Amino acid sequence: MAGVVRLEDIAAPTRTRRTALAPDAPGLVQHVARGGLAEEIGIEPGDRIVRVNGHPLRDILDFQFYSSVEEVLLEVERDGTVVLCEVERDLEEPWGITFADPTNDGIHVCENACPFCFIKQIPKGMRRSLHVMDDDYRYSMLHGSFVTLTNLTEDDWRRIEEQRLGPMHVSVHATNPELRAALVGNPKGALIMEHLARLERAGIDYHAQLVLCPGVNDGPELDRSLRDLSACGPYLKSIAGVPVGLTRFGLERQSRRVRLSRPCVRTMPGAMLDMRRHTPEEAEAVIEQAETWQRRFRAERGETFFHLGDEFYLMCDRPIPPASTYDGFPQIEDGIGITRMFIDDARAVVRRAKRAPSSVHGRPAIIACGTLIGRTMEREVAAVNAATGARLDVVPVENTFFGSEINVSGLLTGRELQRVFTGRPGSEPLFISTTMLSRRTNTLLDDITLDDLRTSLQRDVIVAEHLSDVIAALAA
Ligand code: SF4
Repeated sequence: MAGVVRLEDIAAPTRTRRTALAPDAPGLVQHVARGGLAEEIGIEPGDRIVRVNGHPLRDILDFQFYSSVEEVLLEVERDGTVVLCEVERDLEEPWGITFADPTNDGIHVCENACPFCFIKQIPKGMRRSLHVMDDDYRYSMLHGSFVTLTNLTEDDWRRIEEQRLGPMHVSVHATNPELRAALVGNPKGALIMEHLARLERAGIDYHAQLVLCPGVNDGPELDRSLRDLSACGPYLKSIAGVPVGLTRFGLERQSRRVRLSRPCVRTMPGAMLDMRRHTPEEAEAVIEQAETWQRRFRAERGETFFHLGDEFYLMCDRPIPPASTYDGFPQIEDGIGITRMFIDDARAVVRRAKRAPSSVHGRPAIIACGTLIGRTMEREVAAVNAATGARLDVVPVENTFFGSEINVSGLLTGRELQRVFTGRPGSEPLFISTTMLSRRTNTLLDDITLDDLRTSLQRDVIVAEHLSDVIAALAA
């Protein structure tokens, strides 16, 4: 690292907001729950809620905030005409409205140029939403997406404070200002500790994430980050450390010294960081460093507080920590602890099968997964097969699209599954992980639908999260 980021070099907050994927019909009601308040006052799917008590709605958070009073005036557009609905409500009464889109103005786009940006490593032609470089605090609160806080305007901050929008999920990466600025490719990144202090002052819960890059922000920099974060205050609820992910496209760019960034920040001091993946030995070292901190946090705070991504343990075949150390899995949306949940679920299936005869004896099925979880999956499935008599066959699928080092199940494409399973003999169903599907579009990464997959593979394709789901589907 060379040079120092000076605060006076840091640009003023953006005035013009860059957004993507703005909906055609903002405020569109997608579903009205039976028996809810919305149904009672005659709101129907296809209506648009345009204002609540005179406030235009930027997103569903505005709806929730402005409609959380006893007297509400809704401006509802139906067939081009705006009608007013006056409602007196009990504050506990649910509205029963599902909006088609969480935000009415699209998704706030990031102003960063992280050297490990996964979106910049995705080749063209994937699901459109995958190419959106989102950094939107609303999605952080609603869906647990990680944000850097570098694109917040003063108005955003005031809104977060007024509406107490939390919990936030913050990509910290490093607390050293100069290193943080380089890791997000944005001088404003240097303000991370000021930003976290502002969340603390506002009383907003937040979770921190460190994308750990070997030789860059691990070792002494990780010690510094954990020391600084542990002094932040009571609103920081957990810290996650996840390994940097580099696809073959990203590695190829690195080898050509093409930074995964916009040219405007190429001149920033220290911005050209070398990115590479962890070796198994480096993963072991991260685990050992983490365990030292975890012991300290348990002694001082009564909780583990700093959790490592499952990949670290799987990379060097170390046992996944027990569930009791995950503090209730605060970062499960980020995949932290998902393997522990999977293992514990499989063992519960085995225990249940030992108590009562299983109805899946002799039933065959295929389970597709990424190669990283392959060994663990095979171990647990063997125990489930032995206990239930099912004939589950695990097929770890190599990711030839992103590169074999991208080995998690969630980044397998539909075409990859077609490559491996097309023409495979037998008619047993194929189970794939819920992580392979977009929750929003219900398609695989390359926009292939489940029906496309079923047709091309000529077998049923079933989405399952755990082995108990697989057994339940086979028993049905
Ligand atoms: S990784 Fe960095 S550059 Fe990429 S979308 Fe996220 S914040 Fe933006």
